[in-house]
Amino acid sequence: KKTKVGLIFGGNSSEYEVSVQSAKNIYEAIDKAKYEVYPMALTQSGFMVDLETSKQLFDNPHLEVENKAAVENVANIVQLGDYQDVDVFFPIVHGNIGEDGALQGLFRILNKPFVGSDVLSTAVTMDKDFTKIIAQSAGIKVADWVIVKRHTQDDWTYDKVSQKLGSTVFIKPSNQGSSVGISKAIDEESFNKGLAEAFEYDDKVLVEEAINGVEIEVAVLGNENPQASGVGQITTPEGEFYSYENKYIDESGATLAIPAPISEELTEEVRAEALKVYDILECSGLARVDFMLQNSDSQIVFNELNALPGFTNISMYPKLFELAGITYPDLIDHLISYAKERFDHKK
Ligand code: ATP
Ligand code: MG
Ligand code: MG
Ligand code: MG
Repeated sequence: KKTKVGLIFGGNSSEYEVSVQSAKNIYEAIDKAKYEVYPMALTQSGFMVDLETSKQLFDNPHLEVENKAAVENVANIVQLGDYQDVDVFFPIVHGNIGEDGALQGLFRILNKPFVGSDVLSTAVTMDKDFTKIIAQSAGIKVADWVIVKRHTQDDWTYDKVSQKLGSTVFIKPSNQGSSVGISKAIDEESFNKGLAEAFEYDDKVLVEEAINGVEIEVAVLGNENPQASGVGQITTPEGEFYSYENKYIDESGATLAIPAPISEELTEEVRAEALKVYDILECSGLARVDFMLQNSDSQIVFNELNALPGFTNISMYPKLFELAGITYPDLIDHLISYAKERFDHKK
């Protein structure tokens, strides 16, 4: 008997398109002899739609916008609870609802296994502020930061933050991904503009010390004894950071070096640090752990953890494991096994 997998994707975050692409790739690559897949799309307005409509979104992610009436037709709308025969859920929804504990809570209520971290871990890691507080308290090096909330916005000026954090700072919505709402500020004007932009996405904003260096990422897979992949490095054009445009739009924007051109010793240090972060944040299944490698002293600075990282076949996560000898279909297979294992454990 085949295992029935509920592949949930889409969602109302700014990372809708990335999620559709990840899900489409999973749908195509999954071992059909072993699994039967139900594509279950969440539209951008938050409805879950039936299998046929979900499949249509794979090839035309914007169908919902182009023909909202057809997609969100009452006849197409379903509830998660309608899928009682699903054996395991595979959420590949990035950002809010999917990566922040909300969907995970629903799976718990339905008493079904699901791929990826549980409620607590996804909720914490979606929040960059809480993630850093916990990591720092466990001795992990993070960039210095301050929190600006919507109602305390007037207390903060560029002069005040730059005294504490240096003249270049990063401004980020606390709960976001794919660099949406993130900017670099170097003066009063860019600071005010950046804050306003970040507040479009969240009520809580981080202003962070800029780390002068390169970004490196590690993929982690497993439950109690997880394995870390090799290290990947991202190179962005001079003076730019890994912005949404560099990630998904501009082909020449950023290049991935897998493995990263760093020493074996440093590679091992980064991998160990990734596993430590994974453990501290009580992750399970998978995560991609992002660091900055500081130019001045080669120190590794933990930036953030992505509980449901991009999973298109050209994404960093699957590519890192491919290098470690785990193919994309095998990775899917492992993730489903880990989901079941955790579920059986917790009962
Ligand atoms: P994703 O989930 O897609 O990885 P995100 O939206 O969660 O992205 P971050 O990874 O925190 O955002 O930041 C986006 C990018 O901004 C990073 O990849 C890095 O290039 C740059 N960046 C973020 N924080 C800093 C910092 N403190 N110093 C230097 N660069 C930074
Ligand atoms: Mg992120
Ligand atoms: Mg993310
Ligand atoms: Mg990141």
